Amino acid sequence: MQPHDDVIAAIATAPGTAGLAVVRVSGRDAVAVADAVFDAPAGLVAAAPNSAHHGWARWPGAAPASRGAAGRLDEVVATVFRAPRSYTREDVVELSCHGGRLPAERVLAALLAAGARLARPGEFTLRAFLNGRLDLAQAEAVADLIHAETEAAQDLALSQLAGALSRRLEGFAERLAEARAEVEARIDFAEDVGGIEVPSHVVAAIEALARDLAELLAGAPYARAVREGVRVVLVGRPNVGKSSLFNALLGEERAIVTAHPGTTRDLVSERVEIAGVPVALTDSAGWRAGGDAVEAIGVERARRAADEARVALWVVDRAAPLADEDRRIAASLAGKRVLVALNKCDRPAALAPADLAGAAPDPAWERVEVSAVTGLGLDRLRASLARLLGADGATALAAAVANPRHVEALERARAALDRATAAARGGCAGEIVALELREGLSCLGEVTGRTLDDDLLERIFSRFCVGK
Ligand code: GDP
Repeated sequence: MQPHDDVIAAIATAPGTAGLAVVRVSGRDAVAVADAVFDAPAGLVAAAPNSAHHGWARWPGAAPASRGAAGRLDEVVATVFRAPRSYTREDVVELSCHGGRLPAERVLAALLAAGARLARPGEFTLRAFLNGRLDLAQAEAVADLIHAETEAAQDLALSQLAGALSRRLEGFAERLAEARAEVEARIDFAEDVGGIEVPSHVVAAIEALARDLAELLAGAPYARAVREGVRVVLVGRPNVGKSSLFNALLGEERAIVTAHPGTTRDLVSERVEIAGVPVALTDSAGWRAGGDAVEAIGVERARRAADEARVALWVVDRAAPLADEDRRIAASLAGKRVLVALNKCDRPAALAPADLAGAAPDPAWERVEVSAVTGLGLDRLRASLARLLGADGATALAAAVANPRHVEALERARAALDRATAAARGGCAGEIVALELREGLSCLGEVTGRTLDDDLLERIFSRFCVGK
């Protein structure tokens, strides 16, 4: 995709009532276009870089009016940035208007009348990328920053924006390019047309790189959870204490709690933060067959919610013997990541451990004794849930890979490195090894945008907001 420098404009702030709204203009002639709608004694054309100017927005072509006369659209402050020291590396003007829908919309309309074109979603950031101010991973971090729901997610996006992931991947790419250059140099100088062997130190270097890449990818599930959030559904037969536990985890009264089975008729979902992960905690209706029609709908929704969720909190009443219904629910959770909450631990235990072990399809399901009523064990439950979500306390989020597009490209890079090692060890010709190394390098480049295609850019930037 070639850089464009026609003048684009958009409202950069969210719609609604606010103190300020910002209209952004970028392009080669951005200052001239902004000047056409700007009414102040000095104008903007000769403005110094990074300077702010008070004035009035007006319709282009309208004669500068005296104070209070018609033709003025709003009182504004224009900030002028000169290329290349701007967000897009082009000339940029930001017009700060009064907040609210109308002032910014009228200023935008005036800019369009003066020759600007409405920016597409993410087009300012796309220009920053095409003009080399940001690489692709950094540009994507801008969108992540805007959508972050927890401080951990925001920190993750900030470190990616600052280039932590890019630098790590550049380091990988350099090592890979070195290995490739060494193999290719040997091919070029080989007299034997039957191909060359790859020296063992190069094979070792490729293996070390594959290990480092695997280590980076190992942190991805947690980083993804922090970035995207995870749905955790509470399941269990009626009256085991799901709603009570849901409320205890939220720390407030939210779901209806009664002593009669089957009263949680609908799905209730609330956001909680666990170890930096935005968790959509979902309370399900009891999974009881039958019941009245309304409850049947609730049960069906619960089943669907459980199907969608990758993580389930299976709530069991520790003060009662295990029921067939518990067994059926446990069986339906096979294949999911499950934490078992043994609730009502404030009461005498009546649950046989052997029954529980027999019911769980996976012996690795961790169990935590808890009381939703007294709060006993809640901290341990939260800590276990955090571990289930991938946080082990040591997982560093800085320079982590969180975006599924990146994960997918890096998985392909790792597979190419593994094939390169296998080929070298199997005595294949150096050409095959060089080919795989080139492939690995190309996959790494997809993350930072060195290896590009226009469709990919289109897909990435169309998810941005207009004005960003
Ligand atoms: P749900 O049908 O699974 O959502 O269960 P509820 O949360 O509505 O709870 C059913 C009953 O069990 C209510 O009377 C709760 O007060 C009670 N209950 C829930 N958790 C506990 C607990 O930890 N200890 C005790 N003693 N009672 C509990």
